Amino acid sequence: MLVPGKIILDHAFHNHYAVGAFNANNMEQVQAIIDAAAETQSPVFIQVSRGALQYSRLIYLRNIIQAAAEEHPEIPMAMHLDHGNSLAVVKTAIGLGFTSVMIDGSLDESGKKALSFTDNLAITQAVLDYARPRGVSVEAELGTIGGVEDGAGVKRILVTDPAQAEQFVQQAPIDSLAIAIGTSHGAYKFKEKCELQHSVLQDIHRRLPTTPLVMHGSSSVPAELVAIVNRYGGQMPDTKGVDIEQLQSTIQQGVSKINVDTDGRIAMTGAIRQFFAEHPDKFDPREYLGPARAALKAMVAARLIAFGAAGNASKIK
Ligand SMILES: [Zn+2]
Repeated sequence: MLVPGKIILDHAFHNHYAVGAFNANNMEQVQAIIDAAAETQSPVFIQVSRGALQYSRLIYLRNIIQAAAEEHPEIPMAMHLDHGNSLAVVKTAIGLGFTSVMIDGSLDESGKKALSFTDNLAITQAVLDYARPRGVSVEAELGTIGGVEDGAGVKRILVTDPAQAEQFVQQAPIDSLAIAIGTSHGAYKFKEKCELQHSVLQDIHRRLPTTPLVMHGSSSVPAELVAIVNRYGGQMPDTKGVDIEQLQSTIQQGVSKINVDTDGRIAMTGAIRQFFAEHPDKFDPREYLGPARAALKAMVAARLIAFGAAGNASKIK
């Protein structure tokens, strides 16, 4: 069942787990995410980026996500706009029936230049004014997460300033805040082991003790999934993501939503490459999209369990 994102976030926050938020662009991805949520009895965020909204020509993906909600009325799920970058795109998403939106005012509309604190605050307040009367939850971002998402993005990571975060939420009482504490979008995050800035997170949580926090760029880039891609003709050089244990340690500091996109891309690509390598004679899309869907479902289920979301679906009223 589709619910406002806030209902899931608040439950996760008060019960010390994080909801997984997974990106979808097509039917198989939506099915994989909802199947994993149903199997583990977890609430879930299905999120759609601006790029995915355009790719799916707005209504296709919306209708597929609504079908998932219809198929599984027992699973509380939010249909979430990921990295909205203007009031116009937020209005489009809300018009389509999204129950949660992110306004990323950390960057300008080109996605390349950082917006000032004042400009970020102004666009976030405008989104709040529009979304709140319509019952739609709002996530904002302070600090720059870095990495590449949907072709636009910055290399530089600008860690969130805890004092600014406090001031920001006082002036724009959002439902959740995406923070930058060292994660990065995409598969090529780090050369060495990722070290999250736990002291910054602690300071933010101390200043905002009632605000659910959101971690972006939180794929783990599991070596075994990358190995499948490379075994069957892929060329993904050695790279590292964020260890699951590090992600788990953020949950006690107010992190209530963890975004995972890259791991799903790698899981699906590996399954498809493997199928083609082993069955060069086959050409039915169902035969390679089916295993890709299964690989994504397995990854999503593992994350929902690791984040503590499993078993909570029926507890959310
Ligand atoms: Zn993100």
